[in-house]
Amino acid sequence: MKTYLVTGAAGFIGANFIKYMLAKYQDIKVVILDSLTYAGNLGTIATDIDNNRCVFVKGDICDRTLADELFAKYQFNYVVNFAAESHVDRSIENPQLFLITNILGTQNLLDAARQAWVTGRDDQGYPTWRKDVRFHQVSTDEVYGSLGTEGYFHETTPLDPRSPYSASKTSADLFVKAYFETYKMPVSITRCSNNYGPYHFPEKLIPLIIKNILEGKKLPVYGDGTNVRDWLYVEDHCKAIDAVIHNGREGEVYNVGGHNEKQNIEIVKLTIRTIRQLMTDQPEYRQILKKREIDADGRISVEWINDDLITFVKDRLGHDQRYAIDPSKITKELGWIPETCFEAGIEKTIRWYLENQKWVEDITGGDYMKYYEQMYAGR
Ligand code: NAD
Repeated sequence: MKTYLVTGAAGFIGANFIKYMLAKYQDIKVVILDSLTYAGNLGTIATDIDNNRCVFVKGDICDRTLADELFAKYQFNYVVNFAAESHVDRSIENPQLFLITNILGTQNLLDAARQAWVTGRDDQGYPTWRKDVRFHQVSTDEVYGSLGTEGYFHETTPLDPRSPYSASKTSADLFVKAYFETYKMPVSITRCSNNYGPYHFPEKLIPLIIKNILEGKKLPVYGDGTNVRDWLYVEDHCKAIDAVIHNGREGEVYNVGGHNEKQNIEIVKLTIRTIRQLMTDQPEYRQILKKREIDADGRISVEWINDDLITFVKDRLGHDQRYAIDPSKITKELGWIPETCFEAGIEKTIRWYLENQKWVEDITGGDYMKYYEQMYAGR
């Protein structure tokens, strides 16, 4: 049985990852380490935790004593580090928290793994390592900076982070690489484009738009809405990480992307259209709407769910214009491809939110509302 330390798995991608892995492999044990910040929700993983194949530990990745205890107790084969402060807007408000979690936390885990996994020294003085171990860092395409209208991020593209968030993720990547070069530690890194799918915290674009439509609120779009992101369905990202930790080469970076570039405004309009269509096809979904107007047929109206809800707000400081990933290395070496087409993925995602409103209510308590009002006040 292989054991995994998965950090940050009460958050969006980590939760999807452990669900995917536990369903795919019967012979694994997963230990989740998560400090449950505003972005972590125990409810997301409650049905996965069984204290046998899946154990939850509440704790901070910066806590070295705890990390050492966990390595000693569970003899991990894999560390998959998702834990991070992940929201660019919040990094603009409070950069230091991003340094602490994203950089110091990663380095802390690297050192705990080094202590646990080194078996001796070779003739040249390099550490020798347990054969069946890997430290995997989950990183982002934002480390490459911003593109003009053409070109793609390759693994060899110079690192050029431009926000406190991406600067902290870049630094963490460099530490992971440094542990490979200095100690020959078995590591790998994936740099992925924007994810979407179930369990996404409603401060990010797609779940925010869904939530606001259901509440009859305006849909805030930064600047003129032309910023381009490459979108990937979250399960495709999980499959890419699975492929890299098991078959990717040690010390390598793999870009992961959906070949799916969209302007923010296109995403918002598609989300509006899809919600309206789903509510037209299945009128029972209209019960979720907080805005109650009655249409000509005597049903709760969906007429008002249209592009007029969009409101352009003051742009994010230093807002990167375009990200686009070239994932040909992971496709060529590991046979990974993005499997979920965008329209189908968006529909699946919206259906999930329509059917899991309790999850949204639980995760967006008072603190989130305070943050939301502060972010968009006066914009
Ligand atoms: P998220 O914000 O939804 O989840 C982060 C999780 O980490 C939360 O459960 C939180 O409680 C936990 N956490 C935060 N600080 C911690 C600490 N000090 N100790 C322990 N746990 C802590 O993030 P996400 O969107 O799921 O992203 C996961 C990872 O993937 C991040 O490293 C992010 O940089 C990377 N990534 C995200 C995207 C995306 O589109 N969301 C794209 C590429 C890469």
